[in-house]
Amino acid sequence: MSGRRRFFAAVNGSEAVIDGDEFVHAVTVQRVDTGSEICILDGSGKEYTAIVTGVGKRSLTAHVTGYAEGDREPRTPVYLLIGALKGDKTELVVQKACELGAEKIGVFASEYCSAYFNENKLERLKKVSREAAKQCMRSRAPEVEYFNTLKSALLSAEKYKNKLFACEFADASDVGLSSLGGATAIVVGSEGGFSEKEFALSKELGFSAVYLGRRILRAETAAIALTAIVANALGELK
Ligand code: SAH
Repeated sequence: MSGRRRFFAAVNGSEAVIDGDEFVHAVTVQRVDTGSEICILDGSGKEYTAIVTGVGKRSLTAHVTGYAEGDREPRTPVYLLIGALKGDKTELVVQKACELGAEKIGVFASEYCSAYFNENKLERLKKVSREAAKQCMRSRAPEVEYFNTLKSALLSAEKYKNKLFACEFADASDVGLSSLGGATAIVVGSEGGFSEKEFALSKELGFSAVYLGRRILRAETAAIALTAIVANALGELK
């Protein structure tokens, strides 16, 4: 199914309707027309083969002819939590984390975070997640959620076996990253970094400090690098 143009849409029996951004993308960028063979993703992990049966002004309909389970989803869940970044840097992080196999991405506000966040930005990040998922042939787009406090973000990672907190002023790492196994949550701060109080809170909530060396990495570098390190340790990059 790899050559087919891929779109997210709800599938109802043997019919699917593509609308909104996905419709615009299908018609104006991918040049989908009646009779085109496409692949539909409903977010469940299934990949449906379908034939376009009609193209309207705002939506198109497709007839589903079969499906298969997507086989490129990560086997071990990785959850990235990143402080809200300025400009379009959070988008970059969402895109790369999706490619590297993150299951979920959380964006949070924290003490030294100065980026402005709103509902539009969240919608934009969800779109970036879907686009990245399609581009790298995943069958699910990582969920994107916003937390207005660091504490609520940290609590959302409760069920993860490994909880990693990248801290630029930690003396050393509390865990060996090469021997990780099991579901893993990663927390990386925004441009402003973390306060001592936030670091202490992470410890209280069961997070292990991760130190990435003597150089201070930009937040987006730290987020992408640590997601890749974790994905590699979990065997997802081979
Ligand atoms: N403004 C801070 C740097 C923040 S870097 C300062 O000047 O000290 C943004 C985030 O990237 C940090 O909060 C941390 O999560 C991560 N990070 C960057 N470099 C790191 C390092 N060497 N070790 C661990 N985490 C790091």
